[in-house]
Amino acid sequence: MVGVPSSPVVVVGAGQAGLAVSYELTALGVEHVVLERARVGQAWRGLWDSFCLVTPNWTMSLPGAAYSGHDPEGFVPRDEIVRYLQRYASSFGAPVREGVGVDSLEPGPSGGFRLRTSAGELRAGAVVVCTGAYQRPHRPEVAAGFPHEMLVIDAEAYRSPAALPPGKVLVVGSGQTGCQISEELHESGREVFLACGRAPWLPRRPGGRDIVTWLKETTFFDTPLSALPSPAARLGANLLVTGRGGGHDLHYRTLQAMGVCLLGHLTGVEGQRAHFAGDLAESVAFGDARYADMRKLLGEQLPTKGVVAPELPDPPPFHADPPLELDLNSFGVAIFTSGFRPDYTHWVRFPAFDAMGFPVTDNGASTVVPGLYFCGVHFMRKRKSSVLFGVGEDAAIVARSIARHRSQHHPATSSA
Ligand SMILES: Cc1cc2nc3c(=O)[nH]c(=O)nc-3n(C[C@H](O)[C@H](O)[C@H](O)COP(=O)(O)OP(=O)(O)OC[C@H]3O[C@@H](n4cnc5c(N)ncnc54)[C@H](O)[C@@H]3O)c2cc1C
Repeated sequence: MVGVPSSPVVVVGAGQAGLAVSYELTALGVEHVVLERARVGQAWRGLWDSFCLVTPNWTMSLPGAAYSGHDPEGFVPRDEIVRYLQRYASSFGAPVREGVGVDSLEPGPSGGFRLRTSAGELRAGAVVVCTGAYQRPHRPEVAAGFPHEMLVIDAEAYRSPAALPPGKVLVVGSGQTGCQISEELHESGREVFLACGRAPWLPRRPGGRDIVTWLKETTFFDTPLSALPSPAARLGANLLVTGRGGGHDLHYRTLQAMGVCLLGHLTGVEGQRAHFAGDLAESVAFGDARYADMRKLLGEQLPTKGVVAPELPDPPPFHADPPLELDLNSFGVAIFTSGFRPDYTHWVRFPAFDAMGFPVTDNGASTVVPGLYFCGVHFMRKRKSSVLFGVGEDAAIVARSIARHRSQHHPATSSA
């Protein structure tokens, strides 16, 4: 093939997961190549212009590259995260081929794997799929009902307030992204309406220390999938906070106080009218219940380590009287920030996925297809499997498993 060498092990994707796996494979002396359809750190490059890390800077701690800056509880801007990943890749000479997309992953003609890529065909004895924790933007079915003349975009297409057409803005989905975009648009002078779902929240710096730093001292980030109330809980929103402007609280109450109009779930669109459920108070109550859960966790676990838990007072009462209908005539755009779904099955041609489309693995190794691995999947082993400070643990386990598998099976490594 032209441009893409054959390799005994192929890693697909050069975000933090692919790079961490590459680091660990390099350390074990396992020959491999990393195929990246765009550029190193592409997912971060694609975030909106003002994006800042949401977890504190110390979380930029991939294997062999612990955070060494002077602002561990600060929040670097988007481009600095990309530079961190680029430096990381260079630091150990990661064998990344940028601009090579994998269009399909199939069984090889004589065992192993065949990858059809934008640069030709490649065979491999083992493949690690690291194509992202947050893959395909999810739009609820009601999104199809918006008037054709109205701009409807996903968060992925959002860059900055100035890049949007004039008019009011409807943001659908109140996870971290929806809240952050709503805040930015409101500050730019837009009238913003946020259709809310359910999300946990906590203050950014209780007791003068970042909430992620506090939670890291507990079992919160080590929660396994099996401890969630249902498989669908894996799709739940992350903790509402922001890293913009040095980091601050950002949740239902702060948005309401600044003048963003909070609504219930979007239930339908008919002509120029959008309809919303009257469930805003329930959504806020859900977030408050998670606040109480995390307060309990901190209160129970920190003292066992000799640490005094930060004070987390009861949240103030929330007053909800949201409009149930909006006239879309005065709206310039609707932005969907309604989460993500896995997106493997259109190109990974193996029955290696559950009903929701997540890979079924034992510590990252497919339980169905020998030689097929995954890394960076949300809740793959633990809650932290998909975040900067958690993916390294999984990457080390996956790389060791590959090294073991290879020494046992000596699979074909021949080129196409
Ligand atoms: C808005 C947002 C904010 C976040 N903020 C934080 C945060 O503050 N802290 C934190 O720790 N985590 C955060 N995360 C979560 C997580 O860290 C990121 O999603 C991170 O990018 C995941 O890294 P990854 O390597 O698993 O996947 P990605 O970074 O998505 O990398 C996957 C790579 O695979 C490539 N690729 C995909 N398909 C193919 C293919 N078929 N062939 C070749 N290449 C392919 C892509 O181009 C991409 O470069 C955030 C996520 C989002 C969406």
